[in-house]
Amino acid sequence: MATLKLTRGAEARIKAGHPWIYRTQIADLTGRWKAEEAVEIVDWSRRFLGRGFYNPRPSLCCRLLTRRDEPVDAGFFHRRLREAFEYRREAGLASDAYRLVWSEADGLPGLVVDRYGAVSVVQCLTLGMSRAAPAIADGLHRLFPEGRVHRSDDATAARLEGFEAQHDPSGEELVVTEGGCRFAVTPGAGHKTGLYLDQSENRALFAHHARGRRILDGFCYAGAFACHALTGGSGRALLLDSSADALALARRNLELNGLSARAEIREGNAFDLLRGLEGSGERFGAVVLDPPPFTRRKDSLAAATRGYKEINIRGLRLLEPGGVLATFSCSHHVTPALFEEMCRDAAGDAGVAVRVLQSLGQSRDHPVLLTVPESRYLSGLLLERIS
Ligand code: SAH
Repeated sequence: MATLKLTRGAEARIKAGHPWIYRTQIADLTGRWKAEEAVEIVDWSRRFLGRGFYNPRPSLCCRLLTRRDEPVDAGFFHRRLREAFEYRREAGLASDAYRLVWSEADGLPGLVVDRYGAVSVVQCLTLGMSRAAPAIADGLHRLFPEGRVHRSDDATAARLEGFEAQHDPSGEELVVTEGGCRFAVTPGAGHKTGLYLDQSENRALFAHHARGRRILDGFCYAGAFACHALTGGSGRALLLDSSADALALARRNLELNGLSARAEIREGNAFDLLRGLEGSGERFGAVVLDPPPFTRRKDSLAAATRGYKEINIRGLRLLEPGGVLATFSCSHHVTPALFEEMCRDAAGDAGVAVRVLQSLGQSRDHPVLLTVPESRYLSGLLLERIS
């Protein structure tokens, strides 16, 4: 087994509970390295720190998998998968559609597994994980003997890590249940692994506030917020998205839930559509704004913040007094504090008084590890316009 020795002092971050090692923190690598074998990680004084997959290509080149002196083999993956499942089962989150493995937060950095009915969709984000895919599939079969495993890697991560993204051909359409709604999912097609599972708890909350109100779903994708709101008692919904494919999914989901007659769909750029709605005097009792990440880099944070602010000014102005806005950012660099500051500026510019009903984040099946702030990426607020 190869041994990775860290530079003097580089173990501090590891000891503080973070699993990442950058190339600049490596003193030397000895022994024969194989991508599929975890390396042993030691500090400058050769004290054992743990084991993890190493890849010389990206600057974030190693992520700790274990702090124990144990083999990283099929048994290891099975234990980690079982622990991830236990957490969700005990928390009541192991529903028909949920995230089973959320990378670092589940002690499996570089791996995402989502469950849709009996299908596990596996996404490998590092070279080591892509090599461990057979052991992961084996662990999933032991955990869910009846289930199927579908591979759907992230192309950007695969390019960065230098492995070939594996994509099983799109499977057949499944219909899964989330709360009181049914959603069509085709494993391996569309965004994420099929659904934005990270919003499932927020959708239920939004539906509660949407009762008896006309709602606006600003970046609707498959229409999941709108479906929950309409099922939960919202009178009418307007859904916006710039993607025709997304709107086709939204139409399918509205139809599956018998909601088409109460929904209107408009294709276009939300920045323009929101401005148009405001200009024509339309108002809503509840608005949700769940846009794609406006930045993935720190150096474009200022421009991204202007984008978030603009849509939130419009969202707040479109609310009737007493109306609620559920607003989100899934940009890693937009922290909850920055997001709140942006919303404060937006409310000031919109000239409305706003009460914070609740801080929002990703659903609990996407847990946040306290010592790994990167495991939190979704910031959100539920706001009420009071005048
Ligand atoms: N709320 C959804 C997920 C939204 S993902 C859910 O719960 O499932 C973000 C969506 O924004 C995508 O469908 C994307 O097509 C859409 N989008 C991206 N840029 C847009 C723009 N400028 N105007 C409108 N929609 C946009």
